[in-house]
Amino acid sequence: MYLVDVVLPLPLYQSFFYLSKEFLIPGIRVLVPFRNHLLIGMVKDCLKVTEEELSTEIDYKWIEEPLDTSPLIPPNLFNFLDWVSQYYITPIGLVYKIALPPGVFSLPKRRIYLTEKGKKAIEEGYLPEEFSFIKRKGYNLKYFIKKTGISLKDINRFKKKEWIVIKAEFPKTKVPTETFIRLKDLAKIEEEFSKKEIISYLREKIEVPEKIIKRKFPLKEIKSLLEAGVLEKVEYPRIRKIMLSLEIPKKYELTPLQKEIFEGIKNLIIHGGFKPILLYGVTGSGKSFIYLEIIREILKIGGKVLVLVPEIALTTYMEMLLLNYFKEKIALLHSGLSPSERLSEWMRILNDEVDIIIGTRSAIFAPIKKLGLIIVDEEHDPSYKEETLACKYHARDLALIRGKLENIPVILGSATPSIKSFYFAKKGKYHLFMLKERPFASLPEIKFVESKPFKLISEELKKEIEKMLNKGKSVFLYLNRRGYAPLVECEECHYIWSCPNCGIPLTYHKEENSLLCHYCNFEISSLTVCPQCRGFKMKFKKAGTEKIEEEIKKIFPKVEVIRIDRDAVNTEKKLLQVLEKLY
Ligand SMILES: [Zn+2]
Ligand SMILES: [Zn+2]
Repeated sequence: MYLVDVVLPLPLYQSFFYLSKEFLIPGIRVLVPFRNHLLIGMVKDCLKVTEEELSTEIDYKWIEEPLDTSPLIPPNLFNFLDWVSQYYITPIGLVYKIALPPGVFSLPKRRIYLTEKGKKAIEEGYLPEEFSFIKRKGYNLKYFIKKTGISLKDINRFKKKEWIVIKAEFPKTKVPTETFIRLKDLAKIEEEFSKKEIISYLREKIEVPEKIIKRKFPLKEIKSLLEAGVLEKVEYPRIRKIMLSLEIPKKYELTPLQKEIFEGIKNLIIHGGFKPILLYGVTGSGKSFIYLEIIREILKIGGKVLVLVPEIALTTYMEMLLLNYFKEKIALLHSGLSPSERLSEWMRILNDEVDIIIGTRSAIFAPIKKLGLIIVDEEHDPSYKEETLACKYHARDLALIRGKLENIPVILGSATPSIKSFYFAKKGKYHLFMLKERPFASLPEIKFVESKPFKLISEELKKEIEKMLNKGKSVFLYLNRRGYAPLVECEECHYIWSCPNCGIPLTYHKEENSLLCHYCNFEISSLTVCPQCRGFKMKFKKAGTEKIEEEIKKIFPKVEVIRIDRDAVNTEKKLLQVLEKLY
């Protein structure tokens, strides 16, 4: 007899003991009675016991049924999940619930299989003839019961005789892909094609998402060029809402400085052991290539690599680099996946089908058995902090904890490290590596311009914009405030419109003619009179993106202006339209 420690997906700080006649591998799911229900739980531990060893004061219940034949959680994850529960003071059941793919704690689809013994039992007439419906691939249990009318009770009886086996079914859903179009062979393009606009366009852009190119050029032309073998399609796993083509070199060589840093990190981590490392490299310094080389070293010694990336809409250079070099060997775990895609990727990781796991914050719980390295890219990014779920956590901090528990190196990378990480690096708690040069581009010249008297677009900025426009180039203007004016004041009594919930000033949105709280979304839908003095003259103070757009359109009336913020570009379709213009 076995005493089984089971975690249930409930907001409780404890796990529960059940009895089982057979040994159950930790990490499999079991169906157990709880109060008057049946619940799905996760086996955490299984100990052999005798009747005498059991406490007489507890009325132990029996496990109803094991659901899996192999574990959904590898052994190295149990300690980590316990640690998370204790550190973040979160019930263990909830930690399991957020760590595992959604749907794991609901009853899975099950398949029924016939054993050799079962086949004999049919021949000998012990097992009903209907069981011969079950071929080698098995049969969906629910449909089998529907079709044959045989009760679950009988089926369980036959199962105990080992005539049949019941297994949980896992979805085999592939992560959706994004198709890009590119020139097939640059050198072999014949004269007749090379004058085409689409060819010169692709020469410059290299790879362009199919959906964007289809908006730009006639479908017929694309189709015939694909058929003629001038163009070809490439597919990448869809990692972000918007995939951009980024120029990935087929070959590359590390610069002397990159090489020096790579060697430094390699020497530090190649013998294993917990090593926290901060790789501080300015944008364009080639951090991604160093990651790539380090990953190769870890793969060589049989380790798997977990790469955490922030939650953003666009693909990063590093992601495209990894997808280009390791495509088949990558699993993705991010919030854009459907539950079945997520579970499917989870199983690929468990079954050792992949070497590299790329994912956003919750991927820190990925079921990797031989984890050899964790990389946290853009470690300063606020999206690593999970604040909405019942279990709140910081994935960067958890990466360090998991690294410590598994005794492996952890690389935090950033062009703008968090103060916390930089402080620990300076204190010597982390190993610090700095990449301060851009091998193929110079750092931009940064100039602080004071405009007196104040003008939203200073004379100097206006001149610089003109210069670029005359060269036929685009100009980006950044402002960290959306809306038209972040402050609205009554000109007569100086009343300031503010949010009744948050107490902060409301932002005026001109397009909507409304006042909006950017914290709680409180809204006053039309701005008419001052509630304090009944005056109707108001002052719009400071500037948001809407105001900048208005101003720029006034100064450059003939130039096309696109505003990209949450108000103007709030759907994927709109973002695509904008990107199409930029491409
Ligand atoms: Zn007033
Ligand atoms: Zn508010």
